[in-house]
Amino acid sequence: MTKFNELGIKDEIQRALDELGFDEAFPIQEACIPVLLSDRDVIGQAHTGSGKTAAFAVAMLQKITPKKGIQGMVIAPTRELAMQISGEIKKFAKYTGIKAATVYGGQGMGIQLDALDRGVEIVVATPGRLIDHLKRGSIELSDVEYVVLDEADTMLDMGFIDDIQFILDLTPEERTMSLFSATMPTEILRLSEEYLRNPKQFLLDADDLSGEGIDQSFLVIKDKEKFDYLLDFIKKVKGQVIVFCSTKYRTRDVAKFLHQEKFNAVAIEGDMSQHRREQSMAKFRSGKADILVATDVASRGIDVPRVELVVNYDVPNQDMVYFHRIGRTARAGGVGRAITFVSYSSVGDWNLIKKQIKADLKDLNKEMGIEIKIPDPLKRQIPSRRYGGSGGSSYSRGPRYGGYGRSNRGRSSDDRGRDKKRHDSRGGGGGRNQYGGRSRW
Ligand code: ADP
Ligand code: MG
Repeated sequence: MTKFNELGIKDEIQRALDELGFDEAFPIQEACIPVLLSDRDVIGQAHTGSGKTAAFAVAMLQKITPKKGIQGMVIAPTRELAMQISGEIKKFAKYTGIKAATVYGGQGMGIQLDALDRGVEIVVATPGRLIDHLKRGSIELSDVEYVVLDEADTMLDMGFIDDIQFILDLTPEERTMSLFSATMPTEILRLSEEYLRNPKQFLLDADDLSGEGIDQSFLVIKDKEKFDYLLDFIKKVKGQVIVFCSTKYRTRDVAKFLHQEKFNAVAIEGDMSQHRREQSMAKFRSGKADILVATDVASRGIDVPRVELVVNYDVPNQDMVYFHRIGRTARAGGVGRAITFVSYSSVGDWNLIKKQIKADLKDLNKEMGIEIKIPDPLKRQIPSRRYGGSGGSSYSRGPRYGGYGRSNRGRSSDDRGRDKKRHDSRGGGGGRNQYGGRSRW
């Protein structure tokens, strides 16, 4: 392991890192920082919790001169992530005299304009609101030298590609850019081909994807049995718990049930106001709440420390989401536990995810002696994965949520649905700004 000062980090940054207990650089930091310091572009793919924020932030702070205008820009998909990143940057920057502003929709323009007026060197922004500022001239990118796209795959999933291109086209050509993404779909590679120059790539090794170091297990039960099992598991846990649900309705229901059982739970989902989402996250982060019930919005990129257990109340709609969710536990080298509840109707989806899990996976039905009582018609259908329609099956989809087979994937999370709509509605140009004020950002 390498110390930060061996990477050539300035004393004033080192001092802040020491105070934060960052004794040694994590592998992604050790790999990226020297490359960024040599002004070469970087593409980094690494799993959640690997320390990407400090990797780009420390290198950026090292290069920036105080009081010389906006030199660094970080673009992130959600306001939570933007706030978290600028929070980290401010901690690292404590002794440097460098200031950062956070720019995101859903917060009054006034606060952001005031912060910008006071003079900042770094802007951390979500794309929509950043474009609002660019259009009204409250942010200028002509002196920007360091650009970071964090969680780039999420931004593309959310339909931000045009916005990102619009923003990047306003930055000087001579800039050092890094792009971080948990996955590397072709759109990301295309984007990097267009905007990055001879980037050095850091790709995660296959083991990281397996959720190594996380005690993973699953339990096949009826949908209506899930809540009782959730209570059983939660009661045995001393630390904090995150419960992931597939829809906002589900999230609300589970949070409500937990309140009724006198648990200290908070929820975060796409329909909540900006203010309430912030309140929930703040309560959870400060340890005032023990349980966070969330849709996948919250699972992407938000750093939630000290989580002992992640419960997938519903099977995620794809394997990457699974790994993102369970990445909320076992942070920064600790050990954590992840349990996935598989309703009978999700067994097919779960089997697909299971194939991608390379670490040990405990079958709790076997361990706890819980019988699987899948009704016959379903049993016959599951192995063949014949989706509704093809077989003309009139089997009623018992559970209110999730549905069977493909229906589950199509619906996935409420947020994804919204994003799709959002994406589609963009249509023919000109609509860039209309999203700025949405509660989501
Ligand atoms: P990522 O963006 O890759 O998901 P983060 O940057 O949010 O990861 O870092 C995950 C956690 O690890 C954070 O709590 C962060 O403070 C901590 N961390 C990062 N780098 C170090 C380090 N070098 N030493 C100790 N803790 C670190
Ligand atoms: Mg991150």
